[in-house]
Amino acid sequence: MPRDQHTVTRKYISSNALKVLYRLDKGGFDAYLVGGGVRDMLLGIEPKDFDIATNATPEEIKGLFRNCRLIGRRFRLAHIVFGREIIEVATFRGHHENDGTQKACQKTSKQSDHGMLLRDNIYGSINEDAERRDFTINALYYSARDFKIYDFANGVKDIEQRSIRLIGDPETRYREDPVRMLRAIRFATKLDMKISKETSAPILPLGELLSHIPPARMFEEFLKLFISGKAKANFDMLRDYNLLKHLFPIVEQVLNQKETPQMIELIELSLNNTDKRINNNQRVTPAFLLAALLWYPLQQRIVALKHSTDLTPQDAFFNALGEIMGEQQRSIAIPKRFQAPMKDIWILQDKLARREGKRAYKCLEHPKFRAGYDFLLIRGEIEGGDAQELASWWTEFQHADSDKQQILLKSLPSSRSGARRSVRKRRKPKKTVTPQ
Ligand code: ATP
Ligand code: MG
Repeated sequence: MPRDQHTVTRKYISSNALKVLYRLDKGGFDAYLVGGGVRDMLLGIEPKDFDIATNATPEEIKGLFRNCRLIGRRFRLAHIVFGREIIEVATFRGHHENDGTQKACQKTSKQSDHGMLLRDNIYGSINEDAERRDFTINALYYSARDFKIYDFANGVKDIEQRSIRLIGDPETRYREDPVRMLRAIRFATKLDMKISKETSAPILPLGELLSHIPPARMFEEFLKLFISGKAKANFDMLRDYNLLKHLFPIVEQVLNQKETPQMIELIELSLNNTDKRINNNQRVTPAFLLAALLWYPLQQRIVALKHSTDLTPQDAFFNALGEIMGEQQRSIAIPKRFQAPMKDIWILQDKLARREGKRAYKCLEHPKFRAGYDFLLIRGEIEGGDAQELASWWTEFQHADSDKQQILLKSLPSSRSGARRSVRKRRKPKKTVTPQ
C-alpha cells in the first residue's frame, strides 16, 4: 500500500521509534514498524507502544544501540530504552522444522508435548515473520524508507471488516501458543471488532490448554486484560468462552454456585470503576481489583473454616487468606508488591469496623487506608446495611475537624449503649476479629 493510500504518517509515530528505524536502516538492515502501532494508526487509535521488526539479529541490534537490552529466553528480543519509553525490536521469525532436524536446533526452538512453542528463536525472512504473527491485523508492516504498508495476510481487509482472524490454521496456532485465545478476546474488546468464526470456534474446545501457561506469563496477560480500560468487557467475554477459570478458578467456582449473588455485583462494580479510572487517566492498582475478585471466596472460606475447625476468628481469617492466595497463585503469579496491599485491603475491612478509643485515628494513618476505605465504599453500595453505615461514618470522619470527630466517635454504638448500661447488666463487648 503506497503512502497516498493509507493513514499512517510519521507525525503519529513516536520520535524514538523513528530513530530506531532510521538507525537500523543506516546500519544496512531492513526495519519496519509492525503490530499494534500500524494497526492502531490505521484504525485512528493512538498506539500504546511501537514494535519494530528487522532482519538484524539481537546481537547486531545491540551493536547499533548503546541503550539496548537483550531480553527473553522463549522469545529473544531487544529493548531500546529511551527514559520511560521502550521500543521493542524483534528479529524476523522463521519457520520451525517439525522433522528430525528439530533435535539439532533445540537451542533455538522447542515444542512441548502439547504442541506449545517453548522457544521460538529461529530467524527468517519478512514473509516468514508475517506468517508467525498471531492475527492478520497484527501482520502489517510500515517502512520508514518508502512509507509503504506491507500487508502479508490481508490484514487491511480485516481491519476494514473489523474482523479478528488468526493467520494459518487456528487450532495449530492456539496449540503453539494458547495465550492467543486471550489475545483474541483482548483485541476484540479493545478494537471493538468481532472474532471471525474460524478463529473463535476452537476456543471452547481448546481452552484447557491455557492451564499449561506459566503463572508469571498469565499475570502479564491479566494486567493487559484488566488494567486496560476494558476490564468489564474482557471479564464478560472470558466467561462467555469459559476461560475465566484459567485466570481465576476460585472466582469462577464461587460464581457458579450462585450462593453469593452480591459477588458478581461487587466484581462488576470494581471492574467498571477500574475502567472509568483508566479512561480518566487516574491511577489504578491491580491489587484493588484482585482484592475485589477474591473477597467473597475469602469470606466463604473463613466461614467454612470456622465451621470445620475450632480456630479463633483471627486464625480462621489468616488461614483462609493463605489458602486462597496459595490456590490463586497456581494460575496467576501475583507479585509480592501486589499481594501485600491486597491483604491490607482485606485486613482493613475489619479494622475499619473497630473504631473505639484511638483505633479510628490509627486507621486514618494506615498507609493503605485510602484503598481499604474505597473498598468499603463499594461493599457498602452492594451490601447496604452495616457496611453502608460504616462507609458513611468513615466518609464523614476523615473530613471532619477534631471536634466533629469526637462527636462521631461518641456516637458509636458501644458508647450509645452507655445510657442503657445503667439499667441493664453490663456485658463485655463481644470481640469480632474477622472482617464482616
Ligand atoms: P498492544 O501493544 O496494543 O497490546 P500489539 O498487537 O502491539 O498490541 P504486542 O503484545 O505488543 O501486541 O505484540 C506485538 C506484535 O507481536 C503483535 O502485533 C503480533 O504481531 C506479535 N505477537 C505478539 N504476541 C504474539 C503471539 N503470542 N503469537 C504471535 N504473534 C504475537
Ligand atoms: Mg505492542
